[in-house]
Amino acid sequence: MANPKRKISKSKRDHRRAHWMGGLNASNLAECPNCGESMMSHHVCPSCGYYKGDKVDGMGNA
Ligand SMILES: [Zn+2]
Repeated sequence: MANPKRKISKSKRDHRRAHWMGGLNASNLAECPNCGESMMSHHVCPSCGYYKGDKVDGMGNA
């Protein structure tokens, strides 16, 4: 069976959750070097539209 043998106690469960940082979202937050807004690393800044020092307009490379 694909079930754990024992139910995790409340304290174990809560202890684990206390360390849980929110999964995907928290780990890849970065500060935009251009405008200082918090942004997803490896993504274009949603505030100023810059990525790695270049303006990205979504229309391909000019
Ligand atoms: Zn920015």
